[in-house]
Amino acid sequence: MSSDHLTARHPAAPRLRTALLSACTALLLACAALLGAGAPARAATPSAGPSGSEIAQALSTGPVYVDPSYATAVNAAQQQALAEQIAATGLPIKVALVPLAKGDAFDGQSRTLAAVLKERLGLPELILITTASYGKYLDGFEYPTDTHQTRDAANAVGFLKELDDAGLAARVSKAVELIKSGNGTAVYKAETDRIEKEYAARPHTDGEPAGPGSGGSRPGLFAVAAVLVLAVAVGSVLLVRRRRPRHTAFTFPDAVFAADRAADEAGLRRQAAAEVLALGEAVDAADGATTPGLTRALDAYDAAGRVLDAADGIPDLAGVLALVAEGRAALATDPRLPLCFFDPRHGAAARRTTWRPLGRRERVDVAVCEDCGQALRTRRSPQVLAVRDQGRTVPYFEVPAERSLWAATGYGSLLSGPEDTLAGRVGTGEFSRTRPQRPSQPAD
Ligand SMILES: [Zn+2]
Repeated sequence: MSSDHLTARHPAAPRLRTALLSACTALLLACAALLGAGAPARAATPSAGPSGSEIAQALSTGPVYVDPSYATAVNAAQQQALAEQIAATGLPIKVALVPLAKGDAFDGQSRTLAAVLKERLGLPELILITTASYGKYLDGFEYPTDTHQTRDAANAVGFLKELDDAGLAARVSKAVELIKSGNGTAVYKAETDRIEKEYAARPHTDGEPAGPGSGGSRPGLFAVAAVLVLAVAVGSVLLVRRRRPRHTAFTFPDAVFAADRAADEAGLRRQAAAEVLALGEAVDAADGATTPGLTRALDAYDAAGRVLDAADGIPDLAGVLALVAEGRAALATDPRLPLCFFDPRHGAAARRTTWRPLGRRERVDVAVCEDCGQALRTRRSPQVLAVRDQGRTVPYFEVPAERSLWAATGYGSLLSGPEDTLAGRVGTGEFSRTRPQRPSQPAD
């Protein structure tokens, strides 16, 4: 997902000579890291996970590699069961469960992890199941060709209703089962079709206007728009997949980057839709008598659907995730932090911290994920969600607040208090006002 990112750099070396010197040092360190099989690179980035060679080495003797951070999700007995299930398929399946984060040895990308493992393992035929960069999803890669529909099989697992509450071991086991049956594409299509239909038919908060100027209810139009949006998203994923060449090296031509960006956006759109649906189900299941935040959760659900329908790019889709998190927090009994300020796709924040934006005197209080918190502590730049604004690519929070709800709120981090919510701001039309005006867009 990271091709759309940039890394905001602080002026650590204000003078040119110092800058050049540190660039040379960085280059030398990088060369040393390459020559030294990754060990110095790990030392240089303390938060990074295992290197490709470590994972490949483990996979050369067994079919399953589980990073220590997943050891409770997939324990020794479950690893053994997976290994036996894989052996019974007779297929060259390898599983690499590794937390993927921006700035790690694979820059948080499963496709880079897969390319590295393919290279290192040197097997003529290989089926790889990996963790995905996002949430509960898995990614699949098959070499030399996708004969067993591995990609769709692995992706389908994230959408299967029966696996909603299943752990990682069960999801990997299901992916292996689908790969063995060779019908991953049909299952994937059925599941994404189901999500399209459910999303279109999802309950609305009728009779409960989210705020003044909220556009009224147009359920028919709304449903049609939702289906169209999802159809385009799913269609473009399929299209991009067919077009994407097999990666055999670490150089990706620009066209592939562009295709990857499109796939990232389409994938995020599907995932956002699935999360909105899941929030709707959680709201339905919640007991009004014991859930004081139920109305707020409903507002968040309604706003998330509205933003998803109008979403124009990754920053808006990230906003859908932030709204879903707001709804989840309203249903929860314990206090919850918003999603990571620097990029909501990093997931829930682990803590709040203060941070001084480039060129500002005052510090701001933001919620950050584990990786971004670590980056700030070690004076590295966190991985920031970048946006195009007036022809430039900038961190999203540098867009003037009057042009971006997300810059104004930091996806939840910069809200002024308990009464100030993302859903409330969407309800009062703040999201619509920041949209570029188009002739076809109905006036608020
Ligand atoms: Zn983060």
